[in-house]
Amino acid sequence: MRIGFIGLGVMGGAMAAHLAKGGHNLALYDIAPAAARKISRRHKGARTADSPREVAEASEVVFTMLPEGNAVRACVFDPDGLAAGFKRGSILVDTSSAEPWLTRETAVRLVEHGVAMIDAPVSGAAEGARNASLVFMCGGEAAALKRVRPLLALMGKHVFHLGPVGSGHAMKTVNNLATALTLLGTTEAMLIGKAYGIAPSAMLDVLNVSTGRSFVTDVKFGPQVVERRFDDAFRLALMLKDVGIANRLADDQGLGVPVSALGEQLWRAANAALGEGACVLDVVRWYERATGVELKD
Ligand code: NAD
Repeated sequence: MRIGFIGLGVMGGAMAAHLAKGGHNLALYDIAPAAARKISRRHKGARTADSPREVAEASEVVFTMLPEGNAVRACVFDPDGLAAGFKRGSILVDTSSAEPWLTRETAVRLVEHGVAMIDAPVSGAAEGARNASLVFMCGGEAAALKRVRPLLALMGKHVFHLGPVGSGHAMKTVNNLATALTLLGTTEAMLIGKAYGIAPSAMLDVLNVSTGRSFVTDVKFGPQVVERRFDDAFRLALMLKDVGIANRLADDQGLGVPVSALGEQLWRAANAALGEGACVLDVVRWYERATGVELKD
């Protein structure tokens, strides 16, 4: 199939590579041209394009993997955007973690161009993108999703259809809010344990066979925190965005969610203190500085 891929960063680069290995022809675009060139050099059948319009002209299905929904909207509707190049019957699959309300707007405008949109954000982190074990959380029409399922299968292990367009992006924010609050709660709990005198690696051994176990304790805290790597490929600013989307959805529906609201304040403060390049696990270092307690053995 002729496929377009826009946004070839940590996640998109690895995902596009799986599509190329699956034997598909790829048109690639990233505002940072080196990111697209890196994939086209390694994979026969993958070439770079000069604009999203050119990508759409060359493709039946276009994937986007961009930081958030405004970037997706710009990529679709800017003068040299996808909408200017899409043929009727094409499909846009937005795998970014984006705002459901922007996604719905984009999808409605694309209907005028005869293009179906699927939101299909992912869970599984950089490792999941590399190993093709991502979880896709999809919204949109069943018929369009059916057409792209074989492509999703090249990049992931699970595909869930959650409802109309926007539902996938809403689900993604549910997942990331749960992860973000777990990360803060686990950090605070382990700081208390360390201050009492228990070694962080011993705490992880217990948590990982007890009710406090999570993705955070099982996968992230050992290598990232106890071993002091702090080089996770998920940027803290992206986690803050996801928590903000969740709280906006709660507000829109008149739901009081005090822990989530406080969580957003904490992520916002950490992001302001740590700056642009911080990774999601740096929030632990931010706590460590504030408390004077370090989660190392
Ligand atoms: P990234 O910053 O590594 O990649 C984003 C890419 O998009 C970059 O290469 C950037 O140059 C490009 N880009 C930005 N704006 C663009 C535009 N207007 N047109 C074309 N290209 C543009 O980010 P990432 O970690 O790959 O995350 C991408 C999305 O996936 C985000 O929504 C993030 O929240 C989500 N996500 C990330 C992870 C993770 O662990 N990194 C996991 C799950 C979901």
